[in-house]
Amino acid sequence: METVNEYDSPMYNEAVGQFDRVAKLMGLDDNVSDRLRVPQKALVVSFPFRHDTYTDVETIFGYRVQHLTTMGPTKGGIRYAPDVDLGEVSALAMFMTWKCAIVGVPFGGAKGGVRINPMELSRAELQRVTRRFTMEIINAIGPETDIPAPDLGTNEQVMAWLMDTYSQHVGHAVPAVVTGKPPALGGSVARREATGRGLMFLLPQAARAIDLNPEGATVAVHGFGNVGRYAALAGQQMGAKVVAVSDISGAIYNPDGLDTESVGKWVDENRYLEGYHYADFLDGNDVFALDVDVLVPAAIQNVIRKDNAPDVKAKLIIEGANNPTTLEADDMLRERGVLIVPDILANAGGVTVSYFEWVQDVQKYFWTENEVVARLREIMTRAFDDVHGIAEQEHVDMRTAALIKGIRRVADAKLVRGIFP
Ligand code: GLU
Repeated sequence: METVNEYDSPMYNEAVGQFDRVAKLMGLDDNVSDRLRVPQKALVVSFPFRHDTYTDVETIFGYRVQHLTTMGPTKGGIRYAPDVDLGEVSALAMFMTWKCAIVGVPFGGAKGGVRINPMELSRAELQRVTRRFTMEIINAIGPETDIPAPDLGTNEQVMAWLMDTYSQHVGHAVPAVVTGKPPALGGSVARREATGRGLMFLLPQAARAIDLNPEGATVAVHGFGNVGRYAALAGQQMGAKVVAVSDISGAIYNPDGLDTESVGKWVDENRYLEGYHYADFLDGNDVFALDVDVLVPAAIQNVIRKDNAPDVKAKLIIEGANNPTTLEADDMLRERGVLIVPDILANAGGVTVSYFEWVQDVQKYFWTENEVVARLREIMTRAFDDVHGIAEQEHVDMRTAALIKGIRRVADAKLVRGIFP
């Protein structure tokens, strides 16, 4: 299909490139694959944003992209980042489609973004941006249509403001319009930790596949946000040795293992890792080259590239961020025998517990932490086994196998629904 493509951008082209490669390998019908290459709906908005000073009014761009509306409501986070654009959000919406299908939650993929640097905003500014953006997309979202969640640069508080704005608009409280809310508003217990925890639930299975003993395995985590922090904590709780974590201030490294709980407390009090006492301080990018067994990129996209891939010493990479490894780096690492557990499988614990949260909100019946965590573990470990099984059977890598699983499920659903009218 060589038509004008509104979504054209490096990240979108990479997502489509991955999809095309796997669709071809699967012998997917062209009529189906053409439909899956582009989002079904995309909303681009611009709106005025007044700074606290009252003197400046800035025009802000925002996006909400729904890749696939076949499976149920669409689902995916909203990111606040200074460089986010339509192509990036569309690529991430497509990844959400595969992710939901891999773990078998009844959603299609979506993603949203606001092009702004949240680190530069006051709390009042963050609230104003969130409420105005929510109003701009209000007709596109809803508990049966499209359900946002946190992503890069957004958090539980942002989701609470979104829920409040939507609820004010319709005239009654609608907790199910968003997930990743504070538990006081109908958020699920254990949602905050879900992505990091879900990721580490896969460590024993992935380690077994490469004959690595997960007990005492050394781990470096790039990022200490909502994914990296709880991955580090879960890793340590499961008996791995987390030797390094990083954030935008740099990385901390202790070859004897970090006390991840005390690192978390330090960050709560001091915002950044820099200054933490019981470790050496390194450049943030140094974590990729550390002599560790397991590397967990859990911050942003495109951090493992062809320039630093040769320095990676880990035998296992578990992707916490979305799209942290470029396709070139992926090829290089695979050739060297590094096992990569891909983002669309590894970080699917977030959307899995988002699904639990939505179910709890819709049913108005809330689960205990033990129930949430046990069901999360069950879904993640089964998804890993399924994907690993496909990888063995088809003689492909885990990323390809995960895409096969996701695409197959979606294509089957599309075919049985047929075409309207
Ligand atoms: N933003 C997260 C992701 O990329 C979570 C999405 C959700 O929970 O809907 O998977």
